[in-house]
Order: sequence, then structure tokens, then C-alpha cells
Amino acid sequence: MLPRRDIIFIALGVLTTLAVATTALAFVHTQRSASFSATEAGFDESDLGPAMTAVAVDPYADWTRPQGPLRVGLQAGHWLAYEAPEELANIRHNGAYAVGIAEWEVNLAIAEAARDLLESHGIAVDILPATIPPDYWADAFVSIHADDNDDVRVNGYKVASPRRDRSGKSAEFAALIEEEYGVTTGLALDPNITRNMRGYYAFNWRRYEHSLHPMAPAVILETGFLSNAGDRRVIVQDPDRAADGLVRAVLIFLERSEDAI
Ligand SMILES: [Zn+2]
Repeated sequence: MLPRRDIIFIALGVLTTLAVATTALAFVHTQRSASFSATEAGFDESDLGPAMTAVAVDPYADWTRPQGPLRVGLQAGHWLAYEAPEELANIRHNGAYAVGIAEWEVNLAIAEAARDLLESHGIAVDILPATIPPDYWADAFVSIHADDNDDVRVNGYKVASPRRDRSGKSAEFAALIEEEYGVTTGLALDPNITRNMRGYYAFNWRRYEHSLHPMAPAVILETGFLSNAGDRRVIVQDPDRAADGLVRAVLIFLERSEDAI
């Protein structure tokens, strides 16, 4: 048994140790909290990337549509792809190919048929190759493509809008094309939108010089499968019908956009 005085000393010692430990823990906790707050307060906007930075300083807040007639850009996917600049070297040799037909031929035929229809409505149209001019702007931009698949039974068309859409109109535009193109062509809707569609290089103005102006409403249309006989009956043998489906949607979209101006 310990003398009474020793017990008091031990008790004091334990209490002191506990107090020191508690203070230390509280200090560590404070330091942790402080470092969290500091991280938040001093968060470097560059870590968020330009898209988030744009919230703080929006370079397009005062953007106004350029003067001039309604303008539509129709990109014939893969057309003249071999002319792509260094930043787009990976697109120089790609595109679907089936039954002796290269995708770009189909895309260009549909783009030209759509241009004729749109011009008859007094709309200015640019037919664009795989490489678009830097910062290209239009009231509506459509990149026209065709798919292929090793399984010739795979069929259908699909439409996607950019993952980052500064115009705020592209999703509505895509929905209109999805509706009108399907009704007009009678083709099936393929629901398999890919990452590559939403992150299409021409949409990627943060990364490529040869890309759209951020305020250009844009979609990419996979018109059907070149490898499927049923889809070919429309996209290869009847490009006017495919173009008609696309143009119906473009006209509705432009009419709504004009109302909003
Ligand atoms: Zn393509």
C-alpha cells in the first residue's frame, strides 16, 4: 500500500498527463480544422479548370450573336481528314468503312442535301470538313457521321450534345433531331451514346484551337450504320430523306432561337 502523499502525487501526475494529452489532441484537431479551412479558402481555381473558373469570371456573359443571316454549320465527318493539323493528327485516318463505301462520302452527301434544303429557306450554310476553322460559330452546328459494326444486324441512329455546353441550347437541339430524324427516316433509335460523341473533338474548345466557339449550339448525329443493309437504304440510297429529317429539326430549333433573341 502506498503512503497517502504518494497517492496524491500519482493522482496529480495522472491528471496532469490527461490535461496535457487533451490539450495536445485539441491542438492537433484545431490544426487539422485550420488546414481544412485554409485549403478551402485558398483553393486554387486553376485546380478546377477553366470551366469552373468561368463561373467567377464569365468571358461570355456579355456575348451577343454576330450580325447577319441565320447560319448553320454542317460538318461532313471525316471529309478531308488527312488535312487535319498536328493537334488533331489522331483523326487523320479514321471513320467507318463498309461494302466499299467510306463514311465521309455518305456524310458529305447528306450534308450537301441538307444545305440545299436550308438555303431554300434563306439560311446561310457552311459545309465543313473534318477540321473546322478555329473558334467557328453558327446558330446551329451539326457534325454528320455514320457508324459501322462487325455485327451487320446492329442498326440505328443516335444524337448527342457536348458534355460541356456553354450555349445552353445543345441538349434541346439534340432532342429535336432525335425526334424529327427518327420520324422522317423511320430508322431505329440506338440509345448507346458514347463518351467519344459527347467529348467530340470539335466540341472541345478548351483543348483544341480548331474547335467550335463556346456559344455555338452543337450536336453530333450518327445517321445510321453503314454496315447494316436497312440503315444503308436511307443513309446511302436516300440521302435526301436523311437530310430532310435533320433539316426539319434545324428549322424548328432556329425558329425557337429567333423567338428567344
Ligand atoms: Zn464518323
